Amino acid sequence: MTQSYDLIVIGGGSGGIAMANRAARYGASTALVAAGPLGGTCVNAGCVPKKIFWNAAHLAGQMKMAEEYGFDAVTPRCHWELLKQRRDAYIERLNDRYAQGLNGNGVTLIRGHARFSGAHQVRVDDNTLEAEHILIATGGQPVWPDIPGAELGITSDGFFTLEKAPRCVAVVGAGYIAVELAGVLNALGSDVSLVMRRKHFLNDFESMLRENLMDAMLHQGINLLAQRQVREVEKRADGLCLHFQDGDCLGGLDAIIWAIGRRPNSADLDLELANIAAAPQGFIPVDAFQNTQASGIYAVGDVTAGPALTPVAIAAGRRLADRLFDAQTARHLDTHLVPTVIFSHPPIATIGLSEAAAQEQYGEEAVKVYQTIFTPMLRAFSAEPEKAAMKLVTVGREEKIIGLHAIGDGVDEMLQGFAVALHMGATKQDFDDTIAIHPTSSEEFVTMR
Ligand code: FAD
Ligand code: NDP
Repeated sequence: MTQSYDLIVIGGGSGGIAMANRAARYGASTALVAAGPLGGTCVNAGCVPKKIFWNAAHLAGQMKMAEEYGFDAVTPRCHWELLKQRRDAYIERLNDRYAQGLNGNGVTLIRGHARFSGAHQVRVDDNTLEAEHILIATGGQPVWPDIPGAELGITSDGFFTLEKAPRCVAVVGAGYIAVELAGVLNALGSDVSLVMRRKHFLNDFESMLRENLMDAMLHQGINLLAQRQVREVEKRADGLCLHFQDGDCLGGLDAIIWAIGRRPNSADLDLELANIAAAPQGFIPVDAFQNTQASGIYAVGDVTAGPALTPVAIAAGRRLADRLFDAQTARHLDTHLVPTVIFSHPPIATIGLSEAAAQEQYGEEAVKVYQTIFTPMLRAFSAEPEKAAMKLVTVGREEKIIGLHAIGDGVDEMLQGFAVALHMGATKQDFDDTIAIHPTSSEEFVTMR
């Protein structure tokens, strides 16, 4: 029997759940098909478990610093298995909360793997569903390197299932995940090497951020191995060994974590039956309104080529529901100013263009930059204090702020408010006219000369 709905959502992650709930609240009869646990990557193998670990790592750093403030010295030892147990229980509660939310909004939840069986039809096991509107929100998965022995390593998915802290670990990669996991593992007591194929990590970000983070990581004792391309992984009696193309190797490892990017989940959808062709890397092409090439079929989140961030998937899903089921015909997501935080130690907060990107886009003459590097008061008693650094990138005579970048304690919680200001078109003069809050690190943003 074929079941008919106004909307079918494929994928129970950030984007899919957001759209399903909002559409159902507008009165659309909605089915959501979920192959994995509700909440998707973010809740089960991404933002949430990562932030729990980041919090633990942050606390370890604070405990060490407490001695500088006159407390008795403590050597923080985290009981990984206990932390994991509590984290898993928390995630289960979130899974339940998502199920209750869908139920409360009247969304029909169907467990299973969906594939297209026609232009407006999908199959889940033996059931056929049809709808005028279908959303693809199937997310992505980690990329594995195509080298001998790759299977001896794990990805971020495997990291979150580890029952104990690895003693000696190599993280291979140069993006968000590599930097975040290397920092967490180091703070929780592992011996960490971060292996990158180029000279630096975070190559697509403002250079000031990666330079300061590299200094901090070296200072924290992370072994940064630059310009190393992994050729092979070997299992030896003393542990795993990474062989590099230059002939060098790194052995004695009890874990290797591949953090070399993610790819979209689009291959198992039988997209051709819906008249959709994925891009060569598997992304589903969409326009600014999340429309795919096929009428009535849309895509949001990591399965598209937009910024792969939870709030982006959620905002795209909700706006699409506003457009389709609440007649807000022009509603769509503008991704030109997306704030983002890298949960490194210290954290990085960034929005808009880097200095280099701004100069490329507007010309060197038009771009003016303000920056500062300072020791946050929190670090006043450290022998070698970790610095904070901030940069504002402005353009034109009115000095409109088009980039805001920071690394340092607390910048993760500072960015949201500044993102509102940039979104509203703030200029340097607006920042100068804003009264500072003293003594804080964030006041540096409004006092730069
Ligand atoms: P997902 O959340 O991946 O959900 C897709 C769902 O679809 C999955 O549950 C999957 O099982 C299901 N599915 C796939 N195929 C089918 C099918 N055929 N039928 C039915 N269901 C299907 N972002 C942030 O903003 N902040 C962070 O701090 C952050 N940290 C991260 C840390 C890690 C380690 C990772 C991996 C990612 C992180 N992200 C973070 C990114 C964030 O998790 C993703 O951008 C977000 O989850 C994307 O949401 P989505 O709805 O597109 O896909
Ligand atoms: P990223 O795309 O951020 O980074 C992966 C990097 O790995 C590449 O940029 C590349 O860097 C390097 N790389 C690629 N192939 C290889 C290879 N064969 N060998 C060595 N290095 C390689 O991917 P991540 O997996 O880190 O994260 C995926 C996405 O998830 C992020 O882009 C982000 O959108 C999201 N995310 C967000 C977080 C947050 O908001 N805090 C946290 C975690 C993830 P290079 O070319 O410079 O060598």
